[in-house]
Amino acid sequence: MSAAGTIFSKIIAGEIPCQCVYEDERVFAFLDIAPLSHGHVLVLPKEAKAFLHELSDESAAAIGRALPRICRAVLAATGATSYNVLQNNGSAAHQAVMHVHFHIIPMTTAGGLGIAWKPVHLASDEAVALATKIREALQ
Ligand code: AMP
Repeated sequence: MSAAGTIFSKIIAGEIPCQCVYEDERVFAFLDIAPLSHGHVLVLPKEAKAFLHELSDESAAAIGRALPRICRAVLAATGATSYNVLQNNGSAAHQAVMHVHFHIIPMTTAGGLGIAWKPVHLASDEAVALATKIREALQ
């Protein structure tokens, strides 16, 4: 799905203001306007795709290279030592802006990402079948 025309494409193009913290040929990062904690940053590929699985290898590699660097800078700037990296795909998974983006969310005493982590049961025969299916899909 193309993400052209989202608010993030307009931010990358400089048509809407932001507090930019990083930019290279393929990656852009800026402060979240409604932060969950001090230092909440969004990191996105310039490529206008809605979902992570749609990204080109070039954008994926560029994001992979930039993300840890930006995490280090956020930790250095805020003094935080723990953080979450969150990446939502699809409105059912809480994605509001349909342009791939990674949240860097420092965990502080004043705020951070709340997670409802509720594991479901996975039987061993189901696990074998599922892992086989995923391996096959990767070929
Ligand atoms: P998601 O729910 O993963 O799609 O997150 C979208 C994020 O974009 C939210 O955390 C918003 O606060 C943030 N956001 C939306 N508009 C802007 C904007 N103009 N500048 C900075 N962050 C924004």
